[in-house]
Amino acid sequence: MPIYEYRCEACGAQKEHLQKMSDDPIAQCPACGSSQYSKQLSAAGFQLKGNGWYVTDFKNGSGPSCGGGGGCGSGGCA
Ligand SMILES: [Zn+2]
Repeated sequence: MPIYEYRCEACGAQKEHLQKMSDDPIAQCPACGSSQYSKQLSAAGFQLKGNGWYVTDFKNGSGPSCGGGGGCGSGGCA
């Protein structure tokens, strides 16, 4: 399950939320209640996603060209 980082434009609060891909984005800041609460593209989320793709592609034997190297570890091929 990916972790999404949210940031509130109104009060500056930042928080990570564990959500399913199918879940609706959180639209209200838990700190101040503002609706200016938006999802960020966090490094944590990217890394989880990248690892998932890497494992799946590796099993299928039809992954991207970086399948054999360590390139995916740094998130470079996401
Ligand atoms: Zn807020």
